[in-house]
Amino acid sequence: MGNFDPIQIREDFPIYTNSELPLVYLDNAATTQRPQAVLDELNRYYTEFNANVHRAVYSFGEKATAVYEDSRQTIADFIGADNTSIIFTSGTTESINLVAYAWARNNLTSEDEILVTEMEHHSNLVPWQLAAKATRASLKYIPFNEDGSLDLEDPDKYFTAKTKFVAVTHQSNVLGTINPVKDIVRMAHDVGAVTLVDGAQWVPHGRTDMQDIDCDFYAFSGHKMLGPTGIGILYGKPEMLEKMQPFQGGGEMIKSVTMEQATWNDIPYKFEAGTPNIAQAIGLGAAVKYIQGIGLDVIQNHGRDLTKYAIKKLTQMDSIKIHGNQHDRGPVISFEVTGVHPHDLAQFLDQDGIAIRAGQLCAQPIMDKLGVFATNRASFYIYNNEQDINKFCESIEKTARIFA
Ligand code: PLP
Repeated sequence: MGNFDPIQIREDFPIYTNSELPLVYLDNAATTQRPQAVLDELNRYYTEFNANVHRAVYSFGEKATAVYEDSRQTIADFIGADNTSIIFTSGTTESINLVAYAWARNNLTSEDEILVTEMEHHSNLVPWQLAAKATRASLKYIPFNEDGSLDLEDPDKYFTAKTKFVAVTHQSNVLGTINPVKDIVRMAHDVGAVTLVDGAQWVPHGRTDMQDIDCDFYAFSGHKMLGPTGIGILYGKPEMLEKMQPFQGGGEMIKSVTMEQATWNDIPYKFEAGTPNIAQAIGLGAAVKYIQGIGLDVIQNHGRDLTKYAIKKLTQMDSIKIHGNQHDRGPVISFEVTGVHPHDLAQFLDQDGIAIRAGQLCAQPIMDKLGVFATNRASFYIYNNEQDINKFCESIEKTARIFA
């Protein structure tokens, strides 16, 4: 793993330095830990220049606005976008709902089809079910194969003249599959459809370039990439955002208001109604800088190495089944241990100081397809190392012996 040292990285994370037990945190796909640099930035805002943004004329109010807008610029540069196309939301879920309300409800009819995939998180499925119901559009989906890849052998089956909107996850939170989103966006654009990519699981782990993917919308969350909770991003192509109606009304999203009507502020402010999550937005900028300081290529290689190591160790054990077997998968492994209920396994591992996820992973249709009620999931990030995986595997073996 080169010069990159997860043990040294842990010194930047108070949860590691404060923990009395050795912490084996393997639930990063749910949320990551926060480095001191992010916590310091939150604290700096609250203690040094706490004020509302885009309103105050006094100096520290101007500073709050400048730092908030600097953060937007940092995030725009991070994903190869213009800052006018970066909307601060509360997270991926709100970003997707914004599009489902502000775009889909105003542009879809009963003649149209919304295309999703069978491997979506509920946050990129339920908003489309609701939008389909509201507009009477039909909801179609691309299935996934046994190996966790999308069935794209005959795309004409799914991408048709009726397809008006395509929503797809960049990386599956259950199977770890990294989807060919650039190809999917091209297939969608070829039939004239608008596209949204759910990047909640991908953005923390790999380079993301809006110009290269060319999607119309892209959504991700701060808390899955070392940032605070309550902050996320919706990227939208400026020409799409310009044409869209606002999602919510109030605050700085207006240009002028009379008793009868209102006109809208420029993008992205048209979509930022009310006082935004200022501290969290500033904290996300600090998280992006922290990630850039390590380097996304280093992070991606580390995730790949750990995932390969964990899959090798797990497949050497009896009674383990791993869902999906894509070689090029993100650092997410969902698995079963024969004879042990996923919740029991997670509780036994917790007794050894190991945190993994158990349940339906907000993806019930995937559980149905896999034929399981629930599953376990281990997911890795920059502070994890091979010792974490050794402890995790030893604890699984110990638990399996108890239930045998
Ligand atoms: N999409 C995917 C693929 C996810 O994994 C998650 C969260 O786990 C979400 C969307 C929703 O993210 P949030 O809860 O931050 O809005």
